[in-house]
Amino acid sequence: MVDSFRHQGLRKQLIEHLASKGITNLKVLNAMNKIPRHLFMDNAFVNFSYQDKAFPIGAGQTISQPYTVAFQSQLLEIKPYEKVLEVGTGSGYQAAVLSLLDAEVFTIERQRELFLKTKKFLPTLGYNCMFVYGDGYKGMPKFAPFDKIIITCGAPFIPKDLVAQLKVGGRMVAPIGDGDLQVMHLIEKISETETRITTHGEFSFVPMLNDKNNGN
Ligand code: SAH
Repeated sequence: MVDSFRHQGLRKQLIEHLASKGITNLKVLNAMNKIPRHLFMDNAFVNFSYQDKAFPIGAGQTISQPYTVAFQSQLLEIKPYEKVLEVGTGSGYQAAVLSLLDAEVFTIERQRELFLKTKKFLPTLGYNCMFVYGDGYKGMPKFAPFDKIIITCGAPFIPKDLVAQLKVGGRMVAPIGDGDLQVMHLIEKISETETRITTHGEFSFVPMLNDKNNGN
C-alpha cells in the first residue's frame, strides 16, 4: 500500500483541476488531497487513478468521478461529528472523504461482494464507518435520524424512507433520473412535513437498483 511522491504529485494536479472546475470548499479539497485514490481502484485501472473519471470496480459498479465526489461532498456542507448516511458504499472512496470531513459515516451497499470487500479494506486505511449490507431505498431506520444523506447511484425518484430518516434542518444530496444522466438534487428538510428542493446540474451515475429480493 504505497503512496509514492508520484502518486502525491498526480493527486495534487487532480485537486488543482477540481478547484479550477469550481470546487471551493477547502476541507473537501484537503480531504481528497490526502486520500490515495489508487488504493481504491481495480488493478486494471490503477494507472488512471488520478484522472477525473469514473472507473469499474467490479460487480458492474464504478468508483465515482472525483469531480462528482467533490461536488456532492461540498453540497452536503458537512460539519464535524454529523451523522451521515451514504447509499452505495462501492469502493469506499466517498465514505473515506466523508470520514476525513469528521462525519460519523453509515454506509449501505446492496452488492454483497463490494460490501464485504470494502468493509474489510477501509479500516486498514484508518477509516471507521458503520457498514451495512442492505437496500438503500430503506435506509437505516435503526440508526436514524441523520444530519446528512448522500446517494451515490442514480435514483429514479427521491426515496421517501430516506427523507423520513433526515433530521429537520438536514440535507440530502441525490442524483435523480433513470436515463443516462441524472439531475443533482439538494433536498433540505425544513420541517417534519416540508422540504425545499433545488437542482444542481447533470451528472452520470450507475443506477440505484431495487432490493435483490424484489427482483430488478
Ligand atoms: N460511493 C461509491 C460509488 C459506487 S457506485 C464509491 O465512492 O466508490 C454506486 C453504488 O451504489 C454501487 O456500488 C451499487 O452497487 C450501489 N447501489 C445501487 N443500488 C443500491 C441500493 N438500492 N442500495 C444500496 N446500494 C446500492
